[in-house]
Amino acid sequence: MKKQPTVLIVEDEPAIAELMAVNLRHNGFQPVWVVDSASAQREIDAALPDLILLDWMLPGESGLTLAKRWRAHPRTKLVPIIMLTARTDEADRVAGLDAGADDYMAKPFSTKEMLARVRAVLRRRAPEQAEGGVTIGGLSLDVGTHRVTFQEQPLKLGPTEFKLLQYLMSHAERVHSRGQLLDKVWGDHVFIEERTVDVHIKRLREALGEAGVLVETVRGSGYRVTAHPAP
Ligand code: CA
Repeated sequence: MKKQPTVLIVEDEPAIAELMAVNLRHNGFQPVWVVDSASAQREIDAALPDLILLDWMLPGESGLTLAKRWRAHPRTKLVPIIMLTARTDEADRVAGLDAGADDYMAKPFSTKEMLARVRAVLRRRAPEQAEGGVTIGGLSLDVGTHRVTFQEQPLKLGPTEFKLLQYLMSHAERVHSRGQLLDKVWGDHVFIEERTVDVHIKRLREALGEAGVLVETVRGSGYRVTAHPAP
């Protein structure tokens, strides 16, 4: 029998947590529920879940702080995170995603929506985690170690820039529209504007330095990573 994916629920409201846990269990997942950041950290230290449903407003440290810390730590940086929150401002959503969350759910949400997002995030993550690394035009990205180098020199990328580059490099030479990148890199549910993609492409190029030319703008169409950039 295939192992059931474990889902860590970090949520201080019992009614919401129980509803999520029951529905996850009925749909082939193995939920583990904790109510605050300290017990979430203990749970993570003991065993890595396949996915984390993380409430933003928690007693003690916030979900945002936890997401940032887990993203910064080599052991936890690839565990998918879906942020849960009552906040619906675009600035908050962008902050959640910038902290490294894979997706974002505003309360109240239906259990159907939750299951759809959980499955989508796991599907999106699965093939990427299986891959080792990819090298294009001297630029190398290692999925396992989360390292990016250009001509053997290490480069420092933010979590969103890393995911963006990972997607572009694993689908190199092909042109991707802003809408496609939002869908593939940010999530299936588009709640941020397309110009956000441009902002992160700019940051990505800056972080890549000389290798930034490998990330091409295709006028009127979108972006691509190419081994043969136009001069
Ligand atoms: Ca809460």
